[in-house]
Amino acid sequence: MALIVHKYGGTSMGSPERIKNVAKRVAKWHDAGHQIVVVPSAMSGETNRLLGLAKEITAQPDPRELDMLASTGEQASVALLAMALQAIGKQAVSYAGWQVAIKTDSAHTKARIRSIDDTKVRQDLDAGKVVIITGFQGIDELGNITTLGRGGSDTSAVAVAAALQAAECLIYTDVDGVYTTDPRVVSDARRLKTVTFEEMLEMASLGSKVLQIRSVEFAGNYKMPTRVLSSLTDPLMPLEEEAISGTLISFEEDTKMEQATITGIAFNRDETKITVLGVPDRPGIAYQILGAVADANIEVDMIIQNQSVDGKTDFTFTVPRGEYTKAMAVLNEKVKTHIGAANITGDAKVSKVSVVGVGMRSHVGIASQMFRTLSEEGINIQMISTSEIKISVLIDEKYMELAVRALHKAFGLESA
Ligand code: ASP
Ligand code: MG
Repeated sequence: MALIVHKYGGTSMGSPERIKNVAKRVAKWHDAGHQIVVVPSAMSGETNRLLGLAKEITAQPDPRELDMLASTGEQASVALLAMALQAIGKQAVSYAGWQVAIKTDSAHTKARIRSIDDTKVRQDLDAGKVVIITGFQGIDELGNITTLGRGGSDTSAVAVAAALQAAECLIYTDVDGVYTTDPRVVSDARRLKTVTFEEMLEMASLGSKVLQIRSVEFAGNYKMPTRVLSSLTDPLMPLEEEAISGTLISFEEDTKMEQATITGIAFNRDETKITVLGVPDRPGIAYQILGAVADANIEVDMIIQNQSVDGKTDFTFTVPRGEYTKAMAVLNEKVKTHIGAANITGDAKVSKVSVVGVGMRSHVGIASQMFRTLSEEGINIQMISTSEIKISVLIDEKYMELAVRALHKAFGLESA
């Protein structure tokens, strides 16, 4: 017998029929002798609907009131699931975040969980009940309802699992796991049986479609084994089979089953590149350029500074596409004349492709294999950045899919 947390996404909770299926699946796990806590999302489309209503009232809704509103989606789904379980003879009780309580900071619409009180939940579990807790929401010190940002139910589930020291957190969703790359780009992409949480963080561009990235950080910090698996299977499929399906986010690199050097190919289409040309090469220049960008709340990713010639140098860095215009404006208005830059140029059509894998730590030659593969395809590399388990290159966006396919093949990631 183990304590297990199940999380169901909006699609899984999307209709009364689907909620009944969730109840069947949960009951199956409970019948097998496990203690089960369920953290569901709002029914699919509901959060969007609520936020849309707010926009119809005012262009700038008060964040506190937005949380008050958006949190109702999850409150409806927990109650419906409790009813569905009771209807098939299971004892079940639902709680909103404030009733547990899940305490957060006061950053409305993007709050962070601070603590979770497990007293009430444990009592219910010990009394044989299935406990259902709203995802996505909590309560701040002053008693205001907060929400954790879009996709936040994943984080709620992993946090609840960590607080209860659950054996595993199962994230049921409409995909059946994490893949070596996006199957829409590479048709023979393979589902990974395991992925370390560090790899999962590095593959954010792929993984974030599956999990809210903050939930992966939580899983890492609390060493909570977290599994992503399909909720579209037969709810009554054999439990032993279900329990090992999907992708397990793991921690022990050495227990990795699939010992490939590279685990996956991640990519981000929406990059832009900005170059500040001919700036004096002296202390403080990087700070003046990138500080101004950071002050405008723009996230900078890759950065290179060229060698200086005659006391002048060039700076190149990338920002997300949505921030490009703003970044260019900040640089042209606040930085250019101030630091005496010759010019500022940009390219809004670049993409980033990365090879990711903890195997990189113990294997040499990954970078050269990556660069050879790209050169054989005639793809020009504009920037390179590396971390311990990732090598990224910036390329022209028109070659992105070609690069992903070529690298996927070169590193032997396709399904057998
Ligand atoms: N219902 C919230 C959203 O749509 C939270 C979640 O589903 O994880 O973002
Ligand atoms: Mg989600």
